[in-house]
Amino acid sequence: MLENKKNEFKIAMDSYNNNYFYNKFGIIIASIIIGMQLISVCNLLQNINENINVVGAIGVSVVLIFAYILADFISGIVHMYMDNNTNYKSIIGPFIAAFHLHHKQPKYKNRNPLVVYFIESGSKFWLAGYLVILVYLQYKIELFYYLNLLLVAIGGFSSFAEVSHYWCHNADKNNRIINKLQRAKILLPRSHHKNHHIKDNTHYAFLNGITDSFVNIIAKCFYSGYKNNSDLHVLAYKAQ
Ligand SMILES: [Zn+2]
Ligand SMILES: [Zn+2]
Repeated sequence: MLENKKNEFKIAMDSYNNNYFYNKFGIIIASIIIGMQLISVCNLLQNINENINVVGAIGVSVVLIFAYILADFISGIVHMYMDNNTNYKSIIGPFIAAFHLHHKQPKYKNRNPLVVYFIESGSKFWLAGYLVILVYLQYKIELFYYLNLLLVAIGGFSSFAEVSHYWCHNADKNNRIINKLQRAKILLPRSHHKNHHIKDNTHYAFLNGITDSFVNIIAKCFYSGYKNNSDLHVLAYKAQ
């Protein structure tokens, strides 16, 4: 069983690296996501402009904080699902396999945060679907402006979670602003996230980790972890 999975992982990675479709698909998904995020923000601004007399700063702040917490939770749940998914033979199998490489990645290629925002959005299939439905709803029905703001903010924060995770691994240790934001738990703190790489089936959240205690309980209920599962497939692949 384990040998089969190692083999399936290798085949999936070969497809990911060599197949034109899998090579370009991430760029297409990222472009859809960024395009839909821009359209959803424009629609939101129009909605807020029409209700400018009743939209308040406190309401906006509360909704944004709530969206940040929700986006952290969603990032944790999706990450948990992906880490424990070994369905390499499915159509998205090559993406699942490539995703599993992150546990053995102490540092990423240094890039501009905006480039990270774009490229890493390319593996967020769920987000592309979410944003298409959101934009459809914005055109189709009159969304209550605070609900509209909540849904748009979740869309943006979900991509930003990837940048927060990237900074966890790559940020210059002398960058005082990022360090402060990480210590304040606005960005994902390094010491907190380290647990995900060292321990098993834990600390999945990507944005700031504030919902991890809750995600950890869910993970314990549904999964046995990645150390004796997907991580073994990655190690065998890397040892080749
Ligand atoms: Zn992981
Ligand atoms: Zn990491």
